[in-house]
Amino acid sequence: MITGIILSFKNAVILSLSKNRQNTKFLVMNDKTLYIVATPIGNLGDITARALETLKAVEVIFCEDTRQTLKLLSHFEFSKKLISLHQHTDEQRTIDLLTEYKSIAYVSDAGTPGISDPGGRLVALAIKAGWKIVPIPGVSAVIAALSISGFPTDKFLFLGFMPHKGKTKMMETIKNSNMTICFYESTHRIIKTLEELKKYLEPTRPIVVARELTKMFETVYRGTLEEIIPELEKQSKGEFVVVVAGK
Ligand code: SAM
Repeated sequence: MITGIILSFKNAVILSLSKNRQNTKFLVMNDKTLYIVATPIGNLGDITARALETLKAVEVIFCEDTRQTLKLLSHFEFSKKLISLHQHTDEQRTIDLLTEYKSIAYVSDAGTPGISDPGGRLVALAIKAGWKIVPIPGVSAVIAALSISGFPTDKFLFLGFMPHKGKTKMMETIKNSNMTICFYESTHRIIKTLEELKKYLEPTRPIVVARELTKMFETVYRGTLEEIIPELEKQSKGEFVVVVAGK
């Protein structure tokens, strides 16, 4: 009886996958196609079925850091040739690599490649070299944070990482924006950046700081800078997206 249940469950999965394939034909690997594959930002359960199928089907995976991608592949129990391609990879080497393969997937360390990580450069070079680019969408930290912010998101301004030097321009942009604004910040600089932002924003401006989204210590801080900074001072380890309400 147990076997019967397992068999019918398996059949159900196979049926739904084949229906999916009929609809999307996503497993057809065309020549000179680069698949930009989103991967989880913490919780590996957030990988999509299509991402896994694509990673399994391509000839090679270009990735930001092979150690990171190896962890992902071993969790899902498959292997694939990996080639590291990061922000310091020489342009000519990237072009040469493109000539060696027919179907390539690119993954960054986490989230959607190209969103504040090196994926964008590869896409630009591949377009120039006549490649077809196919998105395999999934998680992005900025979208996850916006979706729980409670601020208007019909329009928003994403500013990437706060620059190390010359923050004034970005602080002014945040101060003057009518739209919801979001930016990325690292564990080492989150408090310093928020302290600096306090000098620019009116004290009542609502903020959301999303820490370690989808991970074990996920925490969402809501309030004004005056309220949030002391909370972060108790625990500021992790990865952060800052969302600021428009003025
Ligand atoms: N391409 C990625 C994406 O689509 O989310 C972003 C890459 S960027 C190099 C990494 C930054 O994203 C981190 O420094 C942090 O600001 C943010 N981030 C990534 N994972 C996060 C998470 N789980 N929780 C909060 N922020 C995260």
